[in-house]
Amino acid sequence: MRRLIKDEKLLAVLGVIEEEIKHDIVEAEMSEEMAALYTCGVSRHEGQWLFLHETNRVYSDTTLFHELMHVILWIEGWPNYYIRQYYTRKNPEYHEKWRGLDKMAELAVNILQHPTIWQRGNQYGYSEMDEWNRQVSDDEMFSGHHTTEWEDRFVEEYLIGGQALHLAHAMLSPAALKLKSDLKRQAQSHLPKAFQIVEHICCVQEQLGKFFPESFDDARKKVFEATNMPQDILMPDPFDRPPPYPLFFSERILSVL
Ligand SMILES: [Zn+2]
Repeated sequence: MRRLIKDEKLLAVLGVIEEEIKHDIVEAEMSEEMAALYTCGVSRHEGQWLFLHETNRVYSDTTLFHELMHVILWIEGWPNYYIRQYYTRKNPEYHEKWRGLDKMAELAVNILQHPTIWQRGNQYGYSEMDEWNRQVSDDEMFSGHHTTEWEDRFVEEYLIGGQALHLAHAMLSPAALKLKSDLKRQAQSHLPKAFQIVEHICCVQEQLGKFFPESFDDARKKVFEATNMPQDILMPDPFDRPPPYPLFFSERILSVL
């Protein structure tokens, strides 16, 4: 992964992470299926740490910082989860009725983790504000005119929960307040049912406040409940380390910045 990073601050962060996890993070090409869903990300597979990406794509320092922060949170003891194969398209018995659930589960976890990543990004010069300003103002799906696009993503049973998660993610994002209040108005009038759930999710996120590994899973369950998702879609990360967690490790990592 080192080859992809020009920024010296990020190289230093990568160095500290690799020392902590006792592995190099190596590059791996994403499958086409994956590339349709994700920009890039760090994953573990058969004892290796992988940076999954599209080989010919250039990633911004902000994007790379974001992905490395997910690893830092894991090192700090934040829980990580795996989606049960049963609910994924790889399962031979995969049922259309679960369409969208994998994306929702991922969003639910991200909604609880991303505000911390965004906050640290602001602190260390990797703000995602510009990107979110673009995203929030471009996302016509929230205006209510793109019903079919929503219906393609989620089966009916999970449609409102899926909308709520997308909206909550945007409402918590570092986008400009003016854009977020426009979004809120649109959501209140076009997606009122989803909006009720959004308020609840944002509350759960705020209550999570200062992080403790034990409280994270409770918050995660509440978000699942609010969006009508089966709790068993996720299973604990098989690589998770037992407590005690090295809390506030990132302060040490970030001191290299
Ligand atoms: Zn993320």
